[in-house]
Formats: sequence, C-alpha cells, structure tokens
Amino acid sequence: MSQFTLLVVEDEEAIRSMLTIVLQQHNFKVLEAASVAQAKDILADTFPDLILLDWMLPKITGDEWTRQLKLDETYKDLPIILLTAKGEENDKVRGLDLGADDYVTKPFSPKELVSRIKAVLRRSGKIHDLTQIQFQDINLNTEQHSVNISGKEIDISPTEFRLLKFFLTHPNKVYTRTQLLDRVWGRSTYIEERTVDVHIRRLRKILASYQRESWLQTVRGFGYRFSEKQM
Ligand code: CA
Repeated sequence: MSQFTLLVVEDEEAIRSMLTIVLQQHNFKVLEAASVAQAKDILADTFPDLILLDWMLPKITGDEWTRQLKLDETYKDLPIILLTAKGEENDKVRGLDLGADDYVTKPFSPKELVSRIKAVLRRSGKIHDLTQIQFQDINLNTEQHSVNISGKEIDISPTEFRLLKFFLTHPNKVYTRTQLLDRVWGRSTYIEERTVDVHIRRLRKILASYQRESWLQTVRGFGYRFSEKQM
C-alpha cells in the first residue's frame, strides 16, 4: 500500500510528537503544524490525504478552520478528523455539522485513532484507489508509476503521470487551471497557468495514440474535465 500523508495540527507539543510517532509506526507520512497558520503554509506545498485537527488551537480554532476548508472549492473534499476534549458532546456534534469527517476524543488509544483514520480514508475512496487506479480501460499503478491503456504500457513523464492520476481519481468534474495547479503541482509552485495547458496538450497527445483524447475535455471558459461521456 502506498503511503498516506497526514497533516497533524496540534499546539501541544507533547501530544503532537506522540501522534507523529504513533502514525509513523503505522506507515503514515506525517506533517506537523502547531497552528492553523503553520498548517496553511504546509498546504501551500503539499496536498495531504487527511488532516488530523485539534479543536482547541490558539487564534483560529479547529472548528473554525474546518468550516473554512469545507467552503473552499480546493479543499472541501479533504478529509478532516477533529480531536476533541473528553466530554464535549456539543463540540462533536458541531464538528460533524461543520463537515468534519469524524472526531476522536482525547485521550484516545493509538489503535482507535489509526482505525478511525483508515475508516475515513476508506470512505473517501482513497484506500482502494491507491496502488491500482482504473478508469474504463486505463490502468494506472502508483507504485510502479506505470500506465496501461487497453493492456499496453504507455510512455509517460512524471508530470503527465500525476495529472492523469488526478483526473482518473476525479472524473466527470470540471477543474480550473488554478485548481489543477494547486492539486497537481502544489500551491507554492511558481508555474504559470499556461503551463497547465502545455501538460494537458502532452497528455492529450498520449491519449490520442489510443483514441482516448476525447476523454480529456476542454470546458470553455472554465477549465478541464476527464470523462468518457461528451457533455
Ligand atoms: Ca490544543
């Protein structure tokens, strides 16, 4: 199984270190932030698979940031597990109302935490997606970095591979160039939007060798969509 990247946002250093150790033992890649501001900096570079977010944080609290993320087109599907203090029943309900995917009450057992994380990743479709991604007759293997179309292995560069992987896991939805830059390249990359078009053209050329170029669609005035249906 490929490695998942978790962003842990917790201001108490002892708890944060403990979480990191536990999660690393379970083969997760962990990014640590002590505040929402730090977490935002990390998001500029990396798109994690899940955020483990403490409720009680200085300045911007976990619930407030959850609300903001769930309203953000780019991050609304990014799973969030809130860490709440024991006995704060209202917080739990509010957290889920705000769009958090689950909550874990402190103090928690590492075993429970890991199983909650896996459950959320499974629900969000990430776990089974990981090593083998299939879309119609396109097969992408994230461990071998290989792509097969109709059983034939194709030649593909790393950027086109990431772009194709994104489209195969997010079909039928339109993404703007900015969203593609954020999700495929990372927000802090200094890349112009027209670079996206260049890579789209290259990917389309690859797909054209297999008569699949019509799946990578330009939606005039908006961006791009991957779909076998012509909409
Ligand atoms: Ca805290």
